[in-house]
Amino acid sequence: MSDEKKLIPEHIDDKLFTVKYNAGKETHLVPNQDDCKKCKDKPCTSFCPAHVYDWDVEQNKLLVGFENCLECGACRIGCTYQSISWKYPSAGCGVSFKHG
Ligand code: SF4
Ligand code: SF4
Repeated sequence: MSDEKKLIPEHIDDKLFTVKYNAGKETHLVPNQDDCKKCKDKPCTSFCPAHVYDWDVEQNKLLVGFENCLECGACRIGCTYQSISWKYPSAGCGVSFKHG
């Protein structure tokens, strides 16, 4: 395998190693939990590339691991009820991409 090919991640999990996070203290992602309760398929738990959303059966609640958010914006349009309050993390926080 050439050196160039070795640098190209082959899987999203490999790609995630090329980013770093500076997590803020407050979430920048706030789903409407009432909508989440009635959301049948909870697609955010599947399409989010960073696995930010997880449905907790015992708590009957959507857990949000906002610290891992890649700020791709997919959940802004993919949420069944369009009910996620979404904003960029506060200045200096959030994801950054390593180069080289
Ligand atoms: S898709 Fe939207 S409404 Fe459904 S579980 Fe996810 S955040 Fe909640
Ligand atoms: S913006 Fe992208 S990475 Fe962040 S929570 Fe939404 S889908 Fe996941």
